[in-house]
This record gives sequence, structure tokens and C-alpha cells, in this order.
Amino acid sequence: MVILPTREKNGSLAVVTFLTCPAAPAVRPLRLSGLYSAPAFIISGMAVQITLIPGDGVGPEVAEATVRAVEATGVDVEWERVEAGAKALEDLGQLLPDDVFASLECTHVGLKGPTATPVGGGHQSINVALRKKLGLYVNFRPVRMLPGLRTRFSDVRVDLAIFRENTEDLYSGLEHEVIPDVVESLKIITKAASMKIARAAFEYACREGRRKVTAIHKANIMKMSDGLFLKCCRAVAAGFGGIQYNELIVDNACMQLVMRPETFDVLVLPNLYGDIVSDLAAGLVGGLGIVPGANIGERFAIFEAVHGTAPDIAGKGLANPTALMQSAALMLAHVSERQAADRLQCALEHVYRAGKHLTRDVGGTAGTAEFTDAVIGAIECPE
Ligand code: NAD
Repeated sequence: MVILPTREKNGSLAVVTFLTCPAAPAVRPLRLSGLYSAPAFIISGMAVQITLIPGDGVGPEVAEATVRAVEATGVDVEWERVEAGAKALEDLGQLLPDDVFASLECTHVGLKGPTATPVGGGHQSINVALRKKLGLYVNFRPVRMLPGLRTRFSDVRVDLAIFRENTEDLYSGLEHEVIPDVVESLKIITKAASMKIARAAFEYACREGRRKVTAIHKANIMKMSDGLFLKCCRAVAAGFGGIQYNELIVDNACMQLVMRPETFDVLVLPNLYGDIVSDLAAGLVGGLGIVPGANIGERFAIFEAVHGTAPDIAGKGLANPTALMQSAALMLAHVSERQAADRLQCALEHVYRAGKHLTRDVGGTAGTAEFTDAVIGAIECPE
């Protein structure tokens, strides 16, 4: 039996109880189009008030494109724009100003562009800080081929749902120098967080009629920490008889994802492996310009692409906004604006199927604005 805390449309808390998990169909129909389903059951009471965090690098470009596309769906969104990252530091002297939290306390839902994190020193990741502070323990990343898009794996069925634990592991930021030239980094794995991410993955699999959940680990080496993660996954799996469960060591999983991506379905991973495997999986379906994401907790949800600030193309009008637009489609579904979500997702798929206005990262020649105009055109004049 699975009990999920949920938020009703009027903002009150409710509980949904699944007494049994229906057996998954032997062969799940291939879904190459249509809206991804977000894993959350949480619906904000103020659904159309959205906190917009444009972020750094290509963030403001893809955020502006996404806002235009969302508005073209006709949904009545009240955006509250707040800055976090380099611009916030420059303008307000703070990387993650209190405004961000104040806004999210009202809206409960955010759409976020990427934010830069310095390598090998400097400030802590804004993403890590946000996810921890807001308890966004699920990082959901659906990885699916868009129709018509030619990639090295176009002829292979890729339809993955990645569930990455989002609050602990080596992202705890606990590092110190033990003695000169010897540094220690603490990997934190807890039963509480591991159970929560495992439950989220299985509940999603159950609800969406998915066949299999694969737990990815390195418990042959990190026997205690990854061992605990696996123990939790096994405990949760035991309550979901209809869903196949298997385990793979992370290095083998990477090889198999490239050789046989069609054999994977739902993946559940600790934080670091989840991040690495997400980028690998993005490479299977056309790259980081494509893959959306959602960070979800009990009270808040922040939707953002898998990609970073793409400093090599920032400010040039070349960024592909698909990943953030698909994240926005997830967000619209999450706030019960299902029709708008479908319109946006269908328009994106139409533009990919037509193949005339694609950005350079996926083999086209268009810039961000031309691609966005094409998506808006497809929203306004659907097929
Ligand atoms: P990146 O994702 O920014 O870029 C990797 C490659 O993918 C680059 O070649 C880039 O041009 C391409 N790419 C990424 N997004 C694209 C898009 N929308 N359209 C077309 N091409 C795109 O990864 P990186 O270079 O390793 O990281 C740069 C910065 O981003 C770092 O500071 C990192 O910490 C940060 N980052 C932030 C987030 C986040 O805020 N969620 C996620 C990942 C990385």
C-alpha cells in the first residue's frame, strides 16, 4: 500500500491511497509523442502564479523564449521574476537573494534557467542550496526522442524516466583538508532520502504503467552508503509486485545505456550518478538542448532543463529553448493547466517533425528566436 501526501487545488492537504499496483502490461506501447507525465501529485493552490528565475548564461534567452511560448498557449500566468546567480550578485550583492524564497513561498512553483557554479573554488552551487532548502528531493528527468529528430540513436526506442535523489550524496558540500594535500569529501546517504526517491520512482512507474525500475549504484565499492541506498530501493520494490526491479552497477549501466537504451525504463539513482547518467541519456536523444527536468518536494516544485549555462553560446541567440519549454510543459501539467501543457508539447513536436526551424545543436540553422516563432506559430495554428 502506498500513501502519498498531495495538495488539492484549493491548497488543502489530502492523502491518496493506492491499495494495489496494477500489473504493468507485458509490452508498454511506444510513446514518442504526447506530454510527459510529471511525477508529482502536488498541485499548488495558486497554480498560475509562477516564480521565474532566468538565471545565467543562456538562461535569460531560453527563459524569455519559454515565457513567450507559454503565453501563446493562452494560459493566464502571472510571472514573478526574481534573480538568482551572477546577475543577482551584481545587482543585489547576493547570489540567492531572500526574494527568491519569498516569491516561492507564495507561488510554490518556479521555472528556472541554469545558474553558473565556479569550478574548483568559489561559491556553493545555487541549485544545491535551493534544492536542499526547499526540500526538493526528487529530480525527475524524462528522456525521450522527439519525433523527426535525427540522432545517432534515432532508430532505437529511448524512453527513460530518471529519478535522481536531489538533496544529499557527494553534493552535501562537506569537504575539508585532513592534512596538507589530503582532502576528504563526505558522501551522505540516508535511509529517509533514499526511501523517498525510491518511492517516487515506483509510484510513478505504477501510475504510468511502466514496466521496470532499475536502481543504479556502486555498492560493490561503497558498501555502506550505496549499500543503504540499495537496501531502501529493495524495501520499496517489495511493495510493488507488478513492477519488475533490477540493479546495475553504475559503470556497467553507462555501457548498457549506450549499447541497449531500449532495455531501460525507469531509473532511480543517488545524486551524483543521477546527474552523470542524465547527461549521458541526453546524448542519446539529441543533447542537452532537449531534456527537461523537475525538482519536486512536498511543498515546492521548480522546473528547469538538465543543461547548464552553456557559456560557449551564451548571448549569441543560438541556444535551443526546447529543454526549458518541455520543462514548462511539465510545469503546466503540474499546476493542472493540462490543455496548455498539451498545446505547448504538441507544438514542439510539430516543429521537430517538420524539421525546418531547428537550432544548430540538433542539426538545424535557426537561432533561438526563429525556433520560438515556429513553436508559437504551431500553437496558434495547430495541425
Ligand atoms: P552546459 O550544459 O552549460 O553545456 C554543455 C554543452 O551543451 C555545451 O557545448 C553547450 O553549448 C551545450 N548546450 C547546453 N545547453 C544548450 C542549449 N540550450 N542549446 C544548445 N546547446 C546547449 O554544461 P557545462 O559547460 O558543463 O556547465 C556550464 C555551467 O553551467 C557551469 O557553471 C555549471 O555549474 C552550470 N550548470 C548549471 C546547471 C543548472 O543550473 N541546473 C546544470 C548544469 C550545469
